[in-house]
Amino acid sequence: MGDGRGLLSVVGIGPGAPGHLTPAALEAISGAELVVGYTTYVKLVGHLLAGKEVVRTGMTEEIARARAAVERARAGARVTLISSGDAGVYGMAGLVFEVLRGIGWKRADPPELRIVPGITALNSCASLVGAPLVHDFCAISLSDLLTPWPVIARRIEAAAGADFVVGLYNPASGRRTRQIVEAQAILRRHRSGSTPVALVKSAYRKLERVVLTDLDHFLEYEIGMLTTVLVGSSQTYVYEGYMVTPRGYGSKYAPDGTVLEGQRPGFSLVVPGAGPAEEAE
Ligand code: SAH
Repeated sequence: MGDGRGLLSVVGIGPGAPGHLTPAALEAISGAELVVGYTTYVKLVGHLLAGKEVVRTGMTEEIARARAAVERARAGARVTLISSGDAGVYGMAGLVFEVLRGIGWKRADPPELRIVPGITALNSCASLVGAPLVHDFCAISLSDLLTPWPVIARRIEAAAGADFVVGLYNPASGRRTRQIVEAQAILRRHRSGSTPVALVKSAYRKLERVVLTDLDHFLEYEIGMLTTVLVGSSQTYVYEGYMVTPRGYGSKYAPDGTVLEGQRPGFSLVVPGAGPAEEAE
């Protein structure tokens, strides 16, 4: 099978709905002889798989999945390994490189490697609640399966202290429920209890559920493996049921678009007592 050279495409399929699968991802799946992925994701693209060989594996078999994909592509097949969201965000792309490195693969060796981007959960979940990521944000995974909890806690602390909007991936699972409680406590030390928090479960999938609440109350709602938690910064507000983090236009421009006194378009924001304006990049 294949043209002898072998191709391994590592593809993010987006949140789940066909409309959020990019044309490039679609092409990588349609053109594959073998599609490898976790059962749930394989189901999400089931309509594209007619006539293809498919290897479905369980959640804990990621290493086997990545190895199988690499081996088959190395042997000459066109293989597409699928990941939810973006394959490079807590996805299979990293593991593919670990496997390739383990076998001493070089760029000129087969298989040819292509990494196809997808819409990550932060993007899809943000779109369902408004515009929460319009200013600086960071992503933190609460899964301590591969990362020690003290490392995760330190990152939450740093993000909370630096006033980032925080997107929490893998916030909890059936057995793993302590981390989100601790995350709440750390964030609460730095932010007001009324800070907007959104819980988005299964964005753009059948059982989609969106809850807009706040830092003091979000633990009262269901949070599981399919939830992404978005915690606002000190600037984030709720408007008409939307969660919005302003970019800061209001500090420089009046609502009618005119420039506020003391400010210059194209120049750094003038903050009283902070020195002269510099030309913006
Ligand atoms: N590669 C994926 C992330 C995998 S980690 C991506 O880029 O989105 C798994 C976590 O992603 C889940 O625990 C959840 O926090 C988040 N997630 C993935 N798909 C989601 C969806 N459709 N809706 C809400 N959260 C999602």
